[in-house]
Amino acid sequence: MSETPRFEDDPRSTQLIRVYEQAQPVERHEPLGFSCRGCGQICCTNVRLFMTPPEAMRILWHLERHTRLAQSLQARGIRWGDLSIGHSSGLPTLQMCLEPIDRSTDRGDARCPFLVPVHRTVAGRSEPTGMHWCGLHEARPVACRTFPLGVRAENGAITGHAITARCPGFEPAAEGEVVPPDYIPPSPDQTVEAWIGAQLDPEQMAETRFYVTEVMGGYLDQGLHVSTEDNPEGELDDDQVVRLGAEFFYRPIPAPVDPDEDHATLMGWMRELIEALPLIRRQLLATPEE
Ligand code: SF4
Ligand code: SF4
Repeated sequence: MSETPRFEDDPRSTQLIRVYEQAQPVERHEPLGFSCRGCGQICCTNVRLFMTPPEAMRILWHLERHTRLAQSLQARGIRWGDLSIGHSSGLPTLQMCLEPIDRSTDRGDARCPFLVPVHRTVAGRSEPTGMHWCGLHEARPVACRTFPLGVRAENGAITGHAITARCPGFEPAAEGEVVPPDYIPPSPDQTVEAWIGAQLDPEQMAETRFYVTEVMGGYLDQGLHVSTEDNPEGELDDDQVVRLGAEFFYRPIPAPVDPDEDHATLMGWMRELIEALPLIRRQLLATPEE
């Protein structure tokens, strides 16, 4: 499958670092006059969004528990994730599939399929407010939580921040504009650190860090990836990496009955991925006769 797409902004990608470096850097203690207005325009439209396996699993579990959202995707014929190969890592990665806003053409703007319009009831009738919410709520990926800030990380630890997009949230809402229920106008007293701290989920961050440092690190150290410029020692071909993604990294497992168990389950599952590395290696590299 030599035509498997390669994407340039998977975790550990030099391209991602380049995008970060072109953005406006901000220090942790600097003010950040930003407050989301729920327009759903820039953050969720024409985005390139990559999900690590624990992020993808949290989305799957959210869909398992919120059947109306899953049914809505099914009714629109949407497959939300596309497996590809990381341009830098040479490992499998999952990209969010966007939905064309004008479904009669593949050209034009496209938005995340999880973006849902908000309605209100006026005189007994439901009407659109112009606002949009993320249908994933607490299961949304880390990159969505930190928008419009890009976060630079090394070995899974955050080392810097930058403003990657100037969106309507930097301006106060106009009088009479419909805003999210907890909206307060952008405060000049809010620091980058305080805002980021309020967005991130420590358990999700721990999962992402563990995946990038331990799981990716382990598979890269063992050469279980395709060769890339950044990681030239790969022993796998494209087909084998796609198998690694479909059968191991992004293979769905059922959601825990108790959502409080999600974090422990994800951490245990990733540890198993590391322990199973020799076995997975034998399976992927086995010739048909073996
Ligand atoms: S204000 Fe910015 S972050 Fe909020 S929905 Fe609009 S574009 Fe997205
Ligand atoms: S997952 Fe949610 S926040 Fe992220 S792009 Fe999709 S709708 Fe927007």
